[in-house]
Amino acid sequence: MQSAHGLLKQYFGYDDFREGQKPLINAVLEGQDVLGIMPTGAGKSLCFQIPALLMQGITLVVSPLISLMKDQVAALNQAGIHAAFLNSSLSMGQYRKALSLAREGRYKIIYVAPERLETEGFLQFALSPEVEISFLAIDEAHCVSQWGQDFRPSYLKILSFLEKLPSRPVLGAYTATATAEVREDILDILKLRSPLVLTTGFDRSNLFFGVKKPRDKYRELETYIKEKEEKMPGSSGIVYCLSRKNVEEVCYRLREAGFSVTRYHAGLADAERRENQDDFIYDRKQIMVATNAFGMGIDKPDVRFVIHYNMPKNMESYYQEAGRAGRDGEAAECILYFGASDQRTNRFLIESGEENEELDREARRIILQRDLERLQQITFYCATSECLRHYILDYFGEESGTECGNCSNCLEEFEFADMTEQAEKVVRCIQDCQRSFGINLIVDVLRGADNQKIRQRDLNENPEYKSLSDMTVPRLKQLLNEMIMQGFLALSNDDYPVLELTDRSDELLEGARLTIKVSKKEEKQPPKFRKK
Ligand code: ADP
Ligand code: ZN
Repeated sequence: MQSAHGLLKQYFGYDDFREGQKPLINAVLEGQDVLGIMPTGAGKSLCFQIPALLMQGITLVVSPLISLMKDQVAALNQAGIHAAFLNSSLSMGQYRKALSLAREGRYKIIYVAPERLETEGFLQFALSPEVEISFLAIDEAHCVSQWGQDFRPSYLKILSFLEKLPSRPVLGAYTATATAEVREDILDILKLRSPLVLTTGFDRSNLFFGVKKPRDKYRELETYIKEKEEKMPGSSGIVYCLSRKNVEEVCYRLREAGFSVTRYHAGLADAERRENQDDFIYDRKQIMVATNAFGMGIDKPDVRFVIHYNMPKNMESYYQEAGRAGRDGEAAECILYFGASDQRTNRFLIESGEENEELDREARRIILQRDLERLQQITFYCATSECLRHYILDYFGEESGTECGNCSNCLEEFEFADMTEQAEKVVRCIQDCQRSFGINLIVDVLRGADNQKIRQRDLNENPEYKSLSDMTVPRLKQLLNEMIMQGFLALSNDDYPVLELTDRSDELLEGARLTIKVSKKEEKQPPKFRKK
């Protein structure tokens, strides 16, 4: 019998397994269920493709995306492995043909959309006596979890499908989502039997992480790409925008400026999307401007930069999208442009989200809360002055050293500013308010803004009104965020989040100190409001 290692070389052309691949493959070969948690690009596919080749019978791979299936099946066929996919992109005739070939045992690996599992035709195939399904691999397994960022109700069909099979195949679940809730959900919902749960390191040390707060995002982007072009001509990069409109605009401006650029979003016709995607993958176009619709299942190893033109909705999405840079292991950069309106836009998108329509009200409410909490966490990522890599790994529950030396915070020169006095004023200001207010209004009070909201609520009579008028708005917000992060304040999780005092707030009035890191460079920037 051939060895897993032999197949790795023969079919895939690689000399060695990557971290985690071997134990995950061996466990499946020994009949043990597995849950493999590996970051995007770590090489999850091989973990089920190689066992599939070594096992008797057929391996089914449940996969959520048509494009993902097509790409993987094409790659397998190219490598000389008989594989097929079954999803709604096939005509009825093609589908029947594929099923009958499958029944004849022509395919070792069959990719199937979860919706298909319980259709009559497919069940007939799966239950025919000559068919043995020995291994069921579930790609993007976090889709079974309602806590996951892309819950797919159809994934729940996997379980009832399994129950119908005459003998239960080995189960393998694979995902890049590492948070504890999602992991537990996968184990519970799929009822994995004493599985090997393996998590590989989430750190991608070849990636540089940066956060910028450009006054003019487009300018910043153009300058960045120009510099890149001088240093490393021909580099590929992805620019992620939140809205289609932004994609259109950024793409247009870059094209006008003479760059080799294309675009991708859900509003384009299928044919154009595919063409643009291929242009990017095969280096006919250097820069892809896209919404988050772009990228799942895209395997382009030499993406040298991923710019987020807007802050995405959570760290999970961010890390997944940013992680499309540098899959070849060479240095690459992931930079997030944070703008004042990003949080608001995301909030709006989360609140108007239609994704969870099939759930009941209570479930929707809980998910909304989670999503807002996650949004808060990524907002902190944009505000923090600690090592960004440390922040990311900490978020995903992984221990890491303190300073990575390869992120914008580690490289930027900071100094510590004692803000205890200012923080005390913030606490007193909030104490004196009759009710709770959001960050913006408290900032207005502290700066001494004179507007209708302030006057209507008599906030100009607050003892701390105008007491921090020498601070800029961003600095004040940084202070408030820092206080929230350190537990001196809390932000409620309502539709309109408000600032609240915590058990620790008093400590500030009783001698606790608060320092925040401020960039030395930032101090030298020109003042924010220049006279025309
Ligand atoms: P994931 O599904 O974890 O995001 P993929 O399975 O798409 O990752 O693999 C990412 C890339 O890594 C692919 O180009 C794949 O061919 C490559 N790869 C996987 N395993 C190995 C290995 N052992 N050695 C070298 N490259 C590998
Ligand atoms: Zn760092």
